[in-house]
Amino acid sequence: MTFNKLVSYFKTINEKEYKARQIFDWLYKKRVTSFKEMTNLKKDLIAILENDFFFDKIEIVKRESDELVNKYLLKLNDGNTIEAVLMEHDYGRSLCISSEVGCNMGCTFCESGRVKKIRNVTSGEMILQILKIEEDLNVRISHIVIMGIGEPFDNYQNVCDFIETVNHDLGISIGSRHITVSTCGLVPKIYEFSEFPYQVNLAISLHAPNDELRSKLMPINKVYKISELIDAIKFYYEKTKRRITFEYIMLDDINDTHECAIELSKLLKGLNCYVNLIPYNETNNIGYKRSSKEKILKFYDTLKKNNISVTIRREFGSKISAACGQLRTIKEGS
Ligand code: SAH
Repeated sequence: MTFNKLVSYFKTINEKEYKARQIFDWLYKKRVTSFKEMTNLKKDLIAILENDFFFDKIEIVKRESDELVNKYLLKLNDGNTIEAVLMEHDYGRSLCISSEVGCNMGCTFCESGRVKKIRNVTSGEMILQILKIEEDLNVRISHIVIMGIGEPFDNYQNVCDFIETVNHDLGISIGSRHITVSTCGLVPKIYEFSEFPYQVNLAISLHAPNDELRSKLMPINKVYKISELIDAIKFYYEKTKRRITFEYIMLDDINDTHECAIELSKLLKGLNCYVNLIPYNETNNIGYKRSSKEKILKFYDTLKKNNISVTIRREFGSKISAACGQLRTIKEGS
């Protein structure tokens, strides 16, 4: 529950608003896992709270570690599993969290969408991914990316509530500029998100410069064409003045040609954005190949020459299948 919702709750049971502060302090600063441990609350209030709420749980099933990466398989209360990945950067520690169990977007290159969406991950379960991993490694996380399994804008309200608590001073207290949401481009939600009063980063999985190619790679493009996506992004920029990131995976001979680079430059000309080129992580059962280093660098140069800001994503975790598009939900017993 967000801080504001908790304040409203206390009003409805005729309790003082400051109780919400006390609860948040116990939950996020002292990190207790039961109401009984909240020793400054009266017994009868604890009884009411125990009746109205429960403490959700998340369990670590498996942790795989590579130098700078820890990948977690996590079990939710109902037995469903999700994954989260912690990465060590020179600027801090970032956690990539899952927002859904499975995913319905069906991007052809992505392993995470092999299992269709089973359900939303609740905002509490998103928070628990942070709390559990901080506890496990005895560290503090400084950055959150919502880029694990799932399409965050297909679970919009929970993701917004999650961001509110992550950002709140009395919550996890991570600055909004350290939080990034990545979407495959659910256009109506981009318009809605432009009203969201937190200055978080928005990343768009673009991956192709024209509709013909993008529709082959990402079924969502059959619903929202690139021109509609760009209109939504322009609107978002006008409202928020926040620079957008475009993610572009590099698939050998598919979207990495010189023509694609030129077409992409034209498409993005004049937008306040930057492009993050992602070396494709090959997965077992899909035919795509990763573009060679030379091709990626050529593509990068073409964008640069055309005045598009561009970076090449540093690689993390491919040894332990923790890299983008390699996470997947494992069903119980499989
Ligand atoms: N559903 C959201 C967030 C999850 S995916 C979205 O689509 O943005 C996070 C990023 O990893 C996306 O840009 C996605 O397209 C990319 N990705 C998926 N599979 C990949 C793979 N095999 N190699 C590299 N990046 C991949």
